[in-house]
Amino acid sequence: MVKPSKMFMVIISLSMVGGIFKILGGFVGGSKSVFVDALTSIANTLAIIIMYRFFSTSVEPPDEDHHYGHHRIGLGGPISTLMLYSFVGGVIVVDLYETFGSSYTVSLLAPIFACAGLLPYTIAIVIAKHIGGTTIYYAKFTVVEIIESLVTVAAAFAGALVSYLIDFIGAITLSCYLFIELTKSFREILEFVSDAAPKEIIKDLRNIIGNYGISVERIRVRRVAENLHQGDVVVKLPSSISVEKAHQIIDSIERDVRDKLNTEIIIHVEPEGKSRRSEG
Ligand SMILES: [Zn+2]
Repeated sequence: MVKPSKMFMVIISLSMVGGIFKILGGFVGGSKSVFVDALTSIANTLAIIIMYRFFSTSVEPPDEDHHYGHHRIGLGGPISTLMLYSFVGGVIVVDLYETFGSSYTVSLLAPIFACAGLLPYTIAIVIAKHIGGTTIYYAKFTVVEIIESLVTVAAAFAGALVSYLIDFIGAITLSCYLFIELTKSFREILEFVSDAAPKEIIKDLRNIIGNYGISVERIRVRRVAENLHQGDVVVKLPSSISVEKAHQIIDSIERDVRDKLNTEIIIHVEPEGKSRRSEG
């Protein structure tokens, strides 16, 4: 496993601090909005730690028990995120259900703590964007958190000054948003594991092989990681060609495709004039 960088630890620590402020806002300030926001923030931070772990494993080279590489272990990240968010979603539903129908008081401490919690997050995003690379995921993830936090601050503020009901409605809105996010993540994972054919890659692949003047019988490509595809191709070569020559051409195509499209393909050769099906 790749050791987490110092910067990553800094980002995570900042998120933790932000989460703690929000928890205080929820409990001390009595705001339901801030409470919901606090739980999603903590789930978010845990998700990032887990994602990082799985990502580090996923870039390891193929070995005895993973012949195609470890790319799909990376899916452990989004799957854990789903689990964490679902768990938090359940806790929130129970809590809001129990509060429903009874009035409560929101103190001004709630929006103040929520604001204080925003600061470490903002710093974390700025650092993540600065580093780039995989931490961009963090930034993407957390910008949503910031927008949520702003909604929360507004709801808690109005909850303290006008009526607890605004705070409660804010909490329900945030929870609905959490469930929308859950559905979205689920769809993304499903898309990923469904071996959807990448149209652009297939088009480029056809072009590359076409440049060699070779006819393509069949192409199968699937996405295995964010930026990596694998597949197999059946091509036709003249029967007169030597095995050595055929191997040379195929090798060259495979290398081309790997370098230009980041796609690993295996090529099967058929002699021209024979259909694949007749092989039986
Ligand atoms: Zn392995």
